Order: sequence, then C-alpha cells, then structure tokens
Amino acid sequence: MRRHTLLIDADDTLWENNVFFEKLIEDFISLVEPYGYPRAYIRHILNETERRNIRQYGYGVRSFGRSLEDTYVKLADHMAKRETVVQIHERVAELERTPPKILDGVPDTLAYLTERHRLILFTKGEPAEQAAKVQRSGLQGFFEAIEIVMEKDAATYRSLVNKHKIVKTQGWMVGNSPRSDINPAMLVGLNAVYIPHEHTWQMEQEAVMSGSGKLVILPAFRELRAHF
Ligand SMILES: [Mg+2]
Repeated sequence: MRRHTLLIDADDTLWENNVFFEKLIEDFISLVEPYGYPRAYIRHILNETERRNIRQYGYGVRSFGRSLEDTYVKLADHMAKRETVVQIHERVAELERTPPKILDGVPDTLAYLTERHRLILFTKGEPAEQAAKVQRSGLQGFFEAIEIVMEKDAATYRSLVNKHKIVKTQGWMVGNSPRSDINPAMLVGLNAVYIPHEHTWQMEQEAVMSGSGKLVILPAFRELRAHF
C-alpha cells in the first residue's frame, strides 16, 4: 500500500476524555439540585454557559471550570457559597491532573501505523493543556508532528493540508467526532475514518456528511491495522 498521511485526533480517540468531564458534571448537578432545579434544567443551563464561554475563552479545563462556576452562581443566586465555588475549582484542577487513560490497543496500533505511514496528531483545545496531555500520554514519539488548534474547522484543515503538503487522496482524518473530525475533513476533500466513542461530548455530535473522499467507519482504533 502507498504511504498515507493519517491525521489522528486525541481526546476520545487515543485516550478517554469526555467520560471524566461527564462524571464531574453529574456530581456538579447533584450539588446544585438541592437549590430546587430539575437535573435536566441544570444541564441545559450548563450547556448554554459552556457554549458562550467556549466562544470567548476557547476549549479547555479552565473554560470548563468557569462554566461550572457561572452556572452555579446563576442558579444558587444569593444562596451561592464561596466555599462551594472553591470546591468546584478543586475538582476541575483534579481533572486536569488525571493521567490520560489510553484506549485499548492504541500503542500497538500506532507502532504498526508509524512504520508504514506518516502520522500527525491533530487536536483542538488550550495549547499548553493539550501539549501536557500529549506529553503524559507517552505517545508523542509515534507522530511526525503534533498540531494543536483552537477549533477544528474547514479553515484549519486547509492550512494543515498546505503546511504538511498532504496529497488529499492520500490523506485521512481519524477521530470520534463528526463535528470536528469527520465533516470538516470531508468538506476539504480528505478521506476520513470515523471511530465512534460511546461517551462523545454532546457538542461534538452531528450527522456524518459525505464528501468527495472515502469514509470508513470502524468499531475500534485497533481495526485501523486492517485498512492501512
Ligand atoms: Mg475527539
């Protein structure tokens, strides 16, 4: 097989990520529930707050911590307690320190792929935070380049294609998110491998669109071996 360029997503593709956020959100909702709100409503307000804060501050745990605090202060109103805000931020700091839990079969599969193809890690988020995660994962050696962007959209895919001189017919985006990995990659003419993850973040959900490139759907990361 000819040498391909594989752009590979990190969160919920190489390691668990969103499941830790979901767990913290469940605890957060339990903390706010006694103020008299239904759980679904608390979640709705948190989602709205996150959307707003992401536009202003980008992705990352600090932006997430700010969203939890804003939601708490809004809902608890004059009953909001300083120590609860501190407690929320302690939980977020703990989340940031959690070592990456590498998904099943990932190191072996990367070792196989890097012998045959060019691998570029492509993730979005707060640059220092994502770089630290990559570092702690111990997987950086498999990649020719690590690319961290604020948003994975058609524009950032185009600039990545130009920067690394990727031949589109030989270029693939591999990831779990229809919104950030599959659809924008297909839109600029790359091929894509969609590996759904059961805990994919609500904000990354979207219908998978088709493009001029090929789309492969796989049940697990290790299945890449059969295709490359
Ligand atoms: Mg992901």
